[in-house]
Amino acid sequence: MKDNKTNRRVFLANLAASAALPAFWSGNAFAQATQPAKFEETDPMAIALGYKEDTTKVDKVKYPNHKPEQKCNNCALYQGKAGDPSGPCAAVGGKLVTESGWCSVWAQKPEPAKG
Ligand code: SF4
Repeated sequence: MKDNKTNRRVFLANLAASAALPAFWSGNAFAQATQPAKFEETDPMAIALGYKEDTTKVDKVKYPNHKPEQKCNNCALYQGKAGDPSGPCAAVGGKLVTESGWCSVWAQKPEPAKG
């Protein structure tokens, strides 16, 4: 049978452990677990799509219709917020592409409705 001192020590140890949990979950470990993976140029799908993190580095011979003003941030499939350096792309399973990137799936984002 435990005495009152032991019970108080166990209670305080449990309290300290539970107080640390919110800091753990809101910290970097949790943020990294929920952050989509970066879409790397070396990914086989990226190679197949001609993806480059910098639209000015696109192979002009292989993609003669590419224009330097075509970027992920003005592509209909880009899901990042304006001003973010990168955002998820629907064409590559939600992985992060750079806002200044490009791939051969690029499609002009529709103009916002005026009114
Ligand atoms: Fe960028 Fe659009 Fe290609 Fe996605 S589909 S990588 S947003 S150009």
